[in-house]
Amino acid sequence: MSDSYDVIVIGAGPAGYPAAIRAGQHGLKVACLDEWKNLDGSHSFGGTCLNAGCIPSKALLESSELVHRAHAEFATHGIRLTTVEVDLAQMQKRKAGIVKTSSQGIQVLFKGAKVTGLPGHGRLLPGRQVEHSAPDGTKTVLQAKHVVLASGSTPMALSSAPFDGERIVDSWGALEFAAVPKRLGVIGAGVIGLELGSVWRRLGAEVVMLEALESFLPMTDQQLAKEALRHLKKQGLDIRLGAKVTGAVVKGGVVEVSFADAKGAQSLSVDKLVVAIGRRPQTAGLLADGTGVALDERGFIRVDNDCRTGAENIWAVGDCVRGPMLAHKGKEEGLMVADRIAGQHAEVNYKTIPAVIYTAPEIAWVGQTEEQVKATGRPYKTGVFPFLASGRARAMESTQGFAKVIAATDDDEILGVHIIGPLAGELIAEAVLAMEYSASTEDLQRTIHAHPTLSEALHEAALAADRIAIDIPNR
Ligand code: FAD
Ligand code: AMP
Repeated sequence: MSDSYDVIVIGAGPAGYPAAIRAGQHGLKVACLDEWKNLDGSHSFGGTCLNAGCIPSKALLESSELVHRAHAEFATHGIRLTTVEVDLAQMQKRKAGIVKTSSQGIQVLFKGAKVTGLPGHGRLLPGRQVEHSAPDGTKTVLQAKHVVLASGSTPMALSSAPFDGERIVDSWGALEFAAVPKRLGVIGAGVIGLELGSVWRRLGAEVVMLEALESFLPMTDQQLAKEALRHLKKQGLDIRLGAKVTGAVVKGGVVEVSFADAKGAQSLSVDKLVVAIGRRPQTAGLLADGTGVALDERGFIRVDNDCRTGAENIWAVGDCVRGPMLAHKGKEEGLMVADRIAGQHAEVNYKTIPAVIYTAPEIAWVGQTEEQVKATGRPYKTGVFPFLASGRARAMESTQGFAKVIAATDDDEILGVHIIGPLAGELIAEAVLAMEYSASTEDLQRTIHAHPTLSEALHEAALAADRIAIDIPNR
């Protein structure tokens, strides 16, 4: 029967499409349904990450960082520019091109793995059936041996500052501005807010970020958070902590934002307002009655450690289940589930999921923060190496930040690595691999790092943990 599959995946974001491809690689008959709609109404695969998240944000971060460097650093390199002109239309065109190429790439990958990509909405019915509603309205019921739910997440709205798609926008809207706003407000100084605020600040906007919490990046090692706040403020991001937004209205083309801070009720006028207060799981219209799939109190699909929902052969992965809302976390869950469906053993090591914030300097970490290690009571040591002491960082004119290694004193096991500095998101990969193999600081100390490279910072931080660093004095 042509409408019967071994595996049906609902959602083709970074959790769903790898699950579909891996299942296809195992020789299973696979369909992957996705309902994503671009702003022009067209369909594309890739989910939030590819169409409105990771990829377009990194494209604009890259372009805007070059603008910043042209203004702030080229002269130091001995490159004189008479003017630096921003062509935002071209910048947006480049970004759109990258998104389009990436999405089309998924179709090519689907073809290669013999996955049937089906645009349209999927709804899980009892008995491992999936109702597929195609964009033309046609409904078909498909049968599967296994179903993988990978429906992702959507931006959280603030009821007192409702999106109007024009002046008050979500993160997707903030990636699509056709002109640089003169004054930009951002609600929420989390990862997404900071990346979007950085883009528009570098392109010339006055950016005010209102963050309800008193602490900055509370999930981050606080030594890094402190360093990050200092650099970001220096770049002109007006980050106000302890500022809880209570409302926003558009009046005469201007957004009037009300917020409360330690001094009481305040207000702020901006031209555009980005609401970046977090994301919530997307499960609307996903589950018919009687499927046996349950949601938790926050609306996430309930799963065990292996991403089983509890309903027979129904799995769920990515942003729609517990854990950090990160593309690579979803990808690993998707691969694990596809391997398990094929009868192989596979698991996700939730202790070694790296996190990256693509500000300048970049912030990246894996494992426990110093605060978390301290709370366990286990004796530990730390080694810190500043990029100022790195020859390569100096050559790059990128000396901000440091690499920090936290390790157990008793058996030398690396417990956490935290990097703020140039290409921290790339450098953290070595630490992830080290921790995946339960490496000690001595393992890192005895690993040869090419010179001059930024990776030497991690080598030196590991040496510094035992006060035997070479390129900085040991205290
Ligand atoms: P999604 O990417 O949300 O994909 C789910 C897909 O399922 C969507 O296409 C949706 O339309 C479809 N769908 C939902 N329900 C149905 C249904 N019933 N039927 C059919 N289709 C359905 N993460 C990182 O790791 N690194 C980053 O740098 C990063 N940057 C980000 C920047 C921004 C601005 C944003 C918003 C997010 C960023 N993220 C980043 C987070 C990342 O995008 C998510 O963690 C990731 O997309 C989650 O993948 P997913 O496959 O679970 O869900
Ligand atoms: P993240 O969860 O990393 O996406 O970050 C979202 C941030 O938005 C968190 O740090 C929240 O504290 C913050 N936030 C949520 N609601 C408000 C609000 N009403 N005003 C200001 N900040 C908020």
